[in-house]
Amino acid sequence: MTTYRTSGIPARILTELPGAVRRALSLLEESGHRAYLVGGCVRDGLLGRTPGDWDLAADALPEETAACFVSCARVIPTGVRHGTVTVLLDGVAMEITTFRVDGQYSDMRRPDSVAFTADIREDLARRDFTVNAMAYRPGEGVFDPFGGEADLRAGILRCVGEADVRFREDALRILRALRFRSQLGFHLDAAAARGVLENRRLLERVSAERITHELDKLLCGRYAAETLREYPEVFEVFIPELASGDAGALERAGYVLGHTVPVREVRLAALLGGCEGVREILTRLRYDRAAIQHVLALTENREAVIPPREREIRRWLSRLGEERLRLLLEFQKGEASRAHEAKEAEAVLNRVIASGACVTLAGLAAGGEDLLAMGLPRGPVIGRTLSHLLARVVDGDIPNTRGVLLAEARRLWNIEGGR
Ligand code: ATP
Ligand code: MG
Repeated sequence: MTTYRTSGIPARILTELPGAVRRALSLLEESGHRAYLVGGCVRDGLLGRTPGDWDLAADALPEETAACFVSCARVIPTGVRHGTVTVLLDGVAMEITTFRVDGQYSDMRRPDSVAFTADIREDLARRDFTVNAMAYRPGEGVFDPFGGEADLRAGILRCVGEADVRFREDALRILRALRFRSQLGFHLDAAAARGVLENRRLLERVSAERITHELDKLLCGRYAAETLREYPEVFEVFIPELASGDAGALERAGYVLGHTVPVREVRLAALLGGCEGVREILTRLRYDRAAIQHVLALTENREAVIPPREREIRRWLSRLGEERLRLLLEFQKGEASRAHEAKEAEAVLNRVIASGACVTLAGLAAGGEDLLAMGLPRGPVIGRTLSHLLARVVDGDIPNTRGVLLAEARRLWNIEGGR
């Protein structure tokens, strides 16, 4: 579990804010507004973790916020209707949101309306968990009306207000709870744990984009394996395929999650490795094509034996490319039965890369133009010949020099003489 470093006194990260953040807060204050850091950055700051992003809240309307920054920063009207503008100041992007109260949730996704308020407490009350419902104002300290600091210290995820109501309002919070469980190692309190399980089916109505945004963070968390073991039913709502495998498959997924680097594609492969229809699952969850191809390359080659020998590694490199092969080895390092060999293969891969060995068409010392000049006809024969040459170079049968490659092409096509 992430340890709580300070007690009462704001952590250094909060007292020594990056210049741009401090400046943004001062600019708002100098214009007569109250400005706070809120949400994740306060939580992370108190935990001694470097915040991923800086969110500010102020009793300023979006246009008032924009007016404070217009002469010194880029102002992007990200979500003015919800009170949010993004400010790019000295290269740091910050979201600044007007204190607000959320209206009714009729679609369980986002409030139908929001109302602005002058009260920071009301703004904090709409937030999901107590540890995310603290605000920090330089000079004033941490404002913590819901006991977030105590929960932070105890490692507890507790909803602001009644868990059941909060999860029904916005079902994404169910997945966010698991995401923080995974990232921080915190435990859900009894009401949140019950609320998550009882309301999990509501996740069916949450858009794929919102789900994957949280799922990616969850899977890359340090406690992803534990989270999957504790709450498999929640994952099964948006990936029912997880339920059709045997219990061993889920156990194996947990093991690999716990033993791989926190890279999205590797962790997705770990989660889905035992499922049928990985492509369909990822397409349904709206992952982009590149991510889907990466994950498929991992799940399809999950059992592949990659011998730690240069020739084999060159073959794999030319099949998958360096990026994918590295991901595959990372994935295999997470499997008890493959880890040892994958580590050895990685060492050989590093050697092969350092040697500058040719493993792609682009690396060949002869190209299509050379073959045309030699008299080969334009068309598919050129590509086929180059592939053949590459395969022979990769296998170490011939060196990658122009003269040898052209001689091999001539031999192949029985062409006399040449250049
Ligand atoms: P991260 O460090 O990953 O950015 P975060 O806690 O900052 O985590 P964000 O998604 O950036 O998460 O949201 C910022 C803050 O907005 C949260 O800390 C929380 O206070 C509030 N929040 C975000 N999503 C919700 C939600 N669905 N329901 C209630 N409050 C939310
Ligand atoms: Mg954030």
